[in-house]
Amino acid sequence: MSRTVGVLVQEHIAAGLVDGNKVVGPLKLFPETAQSPDPLQSMPSADIAETIRGLVEKVAGGEKVEAVGVGFPGIVRSGVIEESPNLQQVKGFALQAVLAASLKGKAAGVPVGVFNDADVMAAGIAATHGKLNQLTRVWTLGNGIGFGRYPAREGVWEGGHSVVTLDPKESFCGCGGKGHLEGILGRRSMRMRFLDLEPEEIFENARAGDTRCAEFVTLCHRALAAATATSIHMSGPGMFFITGPETKFIDIGLLDRLVHEMVKMSPLQGSRFEVIPASDELGILGAAVNASHAAK
Ligand SMILES: [Zn+2]
Repeated sequence: MSRTVGVLVQEHIAAGLVDGNKVVGPLKLFPETAQSPDPLQSMPSADIAETIRGLVEKVAGGEKVEAVGVGFPGIVRSGVIEESPNLQQVKGFALQAVLAASLKGKAAGVPVGVFNDADVMAAGIAATHGKLNQLTRVWTLGNGIGFGRYPAREGVWEGGHSVVTLDPKESFCGCGGKGHLEGILGRRSMRMRFLDLEPEEIFENARAGDTRCAEFVTLCHRALAAATATSIHMSGPGMFFITGPETKFIDIGLLDRLVHEMVKMSPLQGSRFEVIPASDELGILGAAVNASHAAK
């Protein structure tokens, strides 16, 4: 099997070479060290595409590759970023076409696929956990909340924007919609809600007994449980993986109990959660897996 390049765009851009179901060789990152706020926020779309192109060519290193897969946050259809609430400048950007046209050297003419970032995490988890034949769902917790599924199916799957409360005051979601999961559990929305506290401090204060913070931590878990229960009621029970930079906030035992309170029909029982540490490799692998399937 020839090699594929996988790219994951989240708070930074990471690219790697994939051979079979493994990332081989060192990853290439932009920026090379973590920066705050992340530099992608203010970067024009064309520069993001150019940065991805540079990383792809570095990773391929003059070798012939079979395909290039990119995981990108937002609604991605036919290679176009239709919406990306946390990187609003790319709305409507034809990333797949721009990237395909700009690849040079041995990468010139290679098929390029652009997919939702949470979908590529789901593909990466399915590939590494040997579940390529089972429905794999994943929540990615970061500035935004992603929902991914593998196998990919026609649809939008913006599960992070599931409505989990009817409280009209709940309006912190990056997309502007009221009552969304991301407006509660997203890192950016936590900062907007607690202007005086960083998300880590909120969870520390909750453990130390602060009522306002403890109530919020319960709300976070109820919100994620509610969105999961909706997915169970729509697509059936199964494994839900949780990954991303903010998984440290999640208490799996509490989440399990809350979902069991919300899902009572007996054929829908038996869902489980598992936390998978955030890793660029999983997304890179998943982007490569999806691109290689799409190229066949
Ligand atoms: Zn939203």
